[in-house]
Amino acid sequence: MKQGIHPNYYQAKVVCNCGNEFVTGSTKKDIHVEICSKCHSFYTGQQKAASARGRIEMFNRKYGMKTDK
Ligand SMILES: [Zn+2]
Repeated sequence: MKQGIHPNYYQAKVVCNCGNEFVTGSTKKDIHVEICSKCHSFYTGQQKAASARGRIEMFNRKYGMKTDK
């Protein structure tokens, strides 16, 4: 396999808006997602995610992160 063709592949830490974190393989080191398998049940079942979402969005604003896709 030649070097330099394939991007680096990281064990990326994925941080969801619900506060859940998990690790997956990716070309990016850090990934932010709005929904994950864990909080999907919140959206379909409970309203619990709403408060967590607000907390994360405050965090993102504080550190100037974009929350758009
Ligand atoms: Zn989630």
